[in-house]
Amino acid sequence: MRWVWCVFFSLLSLFIKSGIMAKDYHDFDTYQNRFDRSYVEHKIRKYLQKDSEIENYFTITEKGFFLYSSPLKKTRNEPEYVLTFTEKGEILHKEKKKSLVGAKIAIDPGHFGGEYAELEERFIDMKVYENGKASHPVRFNEGTLTLLTALVLKDRLEKEGAVVFLTKDQIGKGVYREDFFTWMQSHREFWNTSMTIPQIFRTFYNPLDLLARAERINQFRPDVTIIIHYNADDARDPATLRTGPSNENYNMVFIPGAFSKTELAKEENRYEFLRLLVTTDEENSERLSTLILREFVQVLDVPAVTQYNAAPYLHRVCLKLNEGVYARNLCLTRMVHGPLCYGETLLQNNNKESLKLAKNDAEIRGISCPSRVIEVAEGYFLGIKKYFETQ
Ligand SMILES: [Zn+2]
Repeated sequence: MRWVWCVFFSLLSLFIKSGIMAKDYHDFDTYQNRFDRSYVEHKIRKYLQKDSEIENYFTITEKGFFLYSSPLKKTRNEPEYVLTFTEKGEILHKEKKKSLVGAKIAIDPGHFGGEYAELEERFIDMKVYENGKASHPVRFNEGTLTLLTALVLKDRLEKEGAVVFLTKDQIGKGVYREDFFTWMQSHREFWNTSMTIPQIFRTFYNPLDLLARAERINQFRPDVTIIIHYNADDARDPATLRTGPSNENYNMVFIPGAFSKTELAKEENRYEFLRLLVTTDEENSERLSTLILREFVQVLDVPAVTQYNAAPYLHRVCLKLNEGVYARNLCLTRMVHGPLCYGETLLQNNNKESLKLAKNDAEIRGISCPSRVIEVAEGYFLGIKKYFETQ
């Protein structure tokens, strides 16, 4: 009977593997012999390649785009997938909707918020300066702001006939099937490490939650996805060394791309790289995000980030597409399929902005909140509306 178990376990592992991965390069077979070399080179240069190290995993010849699972396989010329070129390729144009009616829109409110804010280290707790003196203490957290923004945006879009899916609809909750403390119960290997609880949360648990968010969004098959975050810079209060008031304030948005270093070493990342290369997800994300960023600037009266602002990651890991619009290889920009906008509005720790975000001058579904989140939701809404109505 032993062989029965062997077969059972091999089938089980195959099932689990396919369930988790569910990625097959043959998904892209329909794109064979449709692009020419210059189109693929342009696309990689504009959106996908942040540094030359990723070329250890692919090569481009007259014949096609060759993808390798390792630098060694490249040396041996043993590709895992080849996208064959045609002499005069086509430029793909996706069929688009002309209005929000029936449009499927996924919204991911970033982080957990509420009681998890300190654990995930996404909160503002500082004194704001007035006339050179620390005066108002302000305290709020990003995960609560993103959820409130998502709720307003959902209502606004549904009124126009859109079909909206939220990855989560409660403050202080994530998306992964087990909450952090239940998960910790079955991961005793972390109990006796020198890592702090927030470190364990951010290093091991949060990636599971991000994957769960991406899976739920992809199951919904949205026309566009909006991922909502509020930004902060690393200004420190000299007295406490915690996040302190900043004089900067700006908006930025991210779309997929900008792969660097060894980011193509993982098979699932190479799959997404190839998807972004052959589909129109990059072009549509760029258009959507550029429209949304313009509305942020107008509605919030806060400019797009510029090269003069101190945001070192923009130079280190991003590719600039337009003012305030960058390609960046974040978990969610990479894993979510279809056009997307990953918004990073406002600096929460800006001296004046923090006062607006700490106010309770409005109400959303019975929850007191700052009217500023309604303005942020309006920025997203107007940008999305323009995306569907202007082709
Ligand atoms: Zn965030």
